[in-house]
Amino acid sequence: MNIIVCLKQVPDIRNGLQIEESKDHIREAGLNFKINEADDYALQEALLIKEKFGGEVIVISVGSDRAREVLVYALAKGADRAVHVRDEAIAGSDGFVVAKVLADVIRRLSYDLILTGVQSEDEAQSYVGVAVSTRLALPHASSVTKVEVVNAKKIGVEREMGGGQLEVMEIPLPALLTIQSGICELRYTTLLKIMQARKKEVKILRAQDLTLDRTELGNDGSRLKIVEIGFPESKRGEIIAGEPREAVIKLIQRLQTEAKVL
Ligand SMILES: Cc1cc2nc3c(=O)[nH]c(=O)nc-3n(C[C@H](O)[C@H](O)[C@H](O)COP(=O)(O)OP(=O)(O)OC[C@H]3O[C@@H](n4cnc5c(N)ncnc54)[C@H](O)[C@@H]3O)c2cc1C
Repeated sequence: MNIIVCLKQVPDIRNGLQIEESKDHIREAGLNFKINEADDYALQEALLIKEKFGGEVIVISVGSDRAREVLVYALAKGADRAVHVRDEAIAGSDGFVVAKVLADVIRRLSYDLILTGVQSEDEAQSYVGVAVSTRLALPHASSVTKVEVVNAKKIGVEREMGGGQLEVMEIPLPALLTIQSGICELRYTTLLKIMQARKKEVKILRAQDLTLDRTELGNDGSRLKIVEIGFPESKRGEIIAGEPREAVIKLIQRLQTEAKVL
């Protein structure tokens, strides 16, 4: 079973983030980047299916030079081939363009299954996977929490429906699934394997290698414009100073006189 996995590199914001003065981008300087969590699970699921049924796992990322790292990571974990679509002409692309580019690349490959993450951690549009399936006229299931290969022509999936409900489906192959984080247990790779994977080939595709016109890429091809991003207004709490007994008395007084809830 040949499986394609779409991987997005996202900022690791555990140490916080800042927004550029233009207010339409986060400041990248000083940030670390990593594989999108749901994509890591999609990759792991693909590798587990390959372990059982054979075939190859091909990973694709659309992004700047640094996105190569997620492909190296995937090769270290056991992916067979990696494709990096990178070109200045693609910078500034919205999800509509990213999906078009991914579909354009995937069309030339031989595959049974395409996996994407259910959503990205940074933009979280949950759009790209479904848009790729539409462009390729493939059946799809989203928020998938379990995959079972029935035979070479069919898979069974379980998907989350919200409110704790699950839907069980059978889907003919080829198909596209958007994978939910936690679908399987992640296996970790080693630094040595990552060093070795750096020597493996990552096929680079430029704008001229796509069947898309340059006007369909980047800002020109995008349908969306980011007007402004920002942090939600923080409603800071107040710490009432003093010894516990004294502080509790002050708190009760304020709940009576200011908040008028007591
Ligand atoms: C106007 C505009 C300009 C933008 N400019 C840039 C820019 O210059 N540089 C930039 O990095 N981003 C840019 N973005 C963000 C980029 O377009 C988003 O990555 C894209 O919209 C995908 O949406 P998402 O991240 O919400 O993905 P979702 O739809 O939530 O992602 C679902 C899944 O799709 C797959 N996927 C998503 N993106 C990629 C990818 N790039 N490669 C492979 N698989 C992918 C992953 O498997 C992911 O889990 C821009 C967005 C807008 C609206």
